Order: sequence, then C-alpha cells, then structure tokens
Amino acid sequence: MIFERRGGLFVGRFRSLMGEERLLHGLSTRKGGISEAPFHSLNLGTKTQDDPRSIGENRRRFLQALGPDLWDPAVPEQVHGSAVHAVDRGGSFPETDGLVTDTPGVLLTLLVADCLPVFLLDPKQKAIGLIHAGWRGTRDGIAAGALGLMISEFGCRPQDVRAFIGPGIGPCCYRVEPDTASQFDPRHVRGGRLDLRGANRELLIKQGIKQGSITVSGLCTACHTNLFFSHRAEGGRTGRMMAVFGLKKSR
Ligand SMILES: [Zn+2]
Repeated sequence: MIFERRGGLFVGRFRSLMGEERLLHGLSTRKGGISEAPFHSLNLGTKTQDDPRSIGENRRRFLQALGPDLWDPAVPEQVHGSAVHAVDRGGSFPETDGLVTDTPGVLLTLLVADCLPVFLLDPKQKAIGLIHAGWRGTRDGIAAGALGLMISEFGCRPQDVRAFIGPGIGPCCYRVEPDTASQFDPRHVRGGRLDLRGANRELLIKQGIKQGSITVSGLCTACHTNLFFSHRAEGGRTGRMMAVFGLKKSR
C-alpha cells in the first residue's frame, strides 16, 4: 500500500488498484485531522470518546480528499462478528462486519485500528466487498462468508476475484492469550503471536481465490503509530481509520 497526499491528508491505496478508473478505494491514516490526543488527529470513529465536532470535521476532510464523486455511504455497525450483508443502498447496518455490493454509487465503509480491512473485487461481475477481520471474524471465516455471498448474489467465480488485505496489527506485535491462539491453526501462531494476514490469506485461497490474486500489505498498525491508530499499541484509547470501497456511477 502506498500513501497519496490529498489536500493535507494521506490516503492509502493499493498500487495494483490505482489504475481502476471505475473504482474508489482507500484507507485513511491518522494524519491531517483536528482531534486532540489520544485521538490525534484524523479520528473517524464515531463510537470513540472524542469530541463529535472534531469527528465531523475529520469525516468531512476525508470525504473531500476522496474526490468529487457523490456517494451513498453504507456503514456496518461493527461488532467483531462474522455477519456479512449484500446491500444495494447506503445506510446503517446493525451487527454487521462486512458488506458486499454490485450497486454503483454505494460506498462501502469500515472502521479499523489494528483489525484488517479486507477488500474483495470481481472485475468481471463488477462486484465488491469490504470486510472487518479481527481475530474473531478471522476465526469464524468472515472473508469466506463475504466471498460466498458474492458468489450467490452476484454470480462471481472465486478464480476471478482479487483480494487486498490492508494494514493491521502484524505477527510482529499481535500477542494473544493461549485460549485465543488455540482457536487457530498452529501455523498462524508463532511465539504466542497471531498472524491475521496469513490466516485470512489462507482462508481465501481455500475458497478458490488464486494466490497471485491476493495482495497483502505488510504494514503493521502497532509498529507505525505515527501513521496509524493502534488499539493495542495505545492501550485501547485511540481513534479509528476508515477504509472505503465503491463502484463509481457512470457519468
Ligand atoms: Zn508490528
């Protein structure tokens, strides 16, 4: 993932998706907002203890940085679960940790601060998904659930789907309790540290996505708190980044 400067903000993008004119994708960083510590500065998480006026201004700046297109944002009310919904409109979706759509103009959104944002794209069926994968969601196979919904709802074929796993807490930093570790394949736990990226990558390959179609960001949120909010590295009091994924309307 590389970071483009956009009006005082930095928007993270996958290089191999940047040429896709009909798509909007990105991940905010913590830079360029107005929130004060510990939410400094571009906190986009409405459920944090931050000043709502700051969050509102930060959201306005981020949406502006994304460009001129008008979007109907779809907002999952994340609960570290594994429910995924197919949507054809924006709005708020309770107890949901992943959304898929093939409707242009609907902007899938997600809030993260260590958990992985996973982007799914089928360029043939023109369908997308955006999934919140922390340890519970990963254990329960949320990325596979999202892919399954893209297959049943939009006629996608796994071999056509591309996956992009964004920055999150890495196996360098993600120490977990033994009872958490025991719920994963031992290959994804080394020295008590969980490899969420590897676990999600393997999950997607098992569902039929080609190895070469999966891009994994090696950036660890806990290692880079200058750029990212990290729930773990900052003792639970921090802000949230927003991931977005949308199919542009034709003009
Ligand atoms: Zn790390």
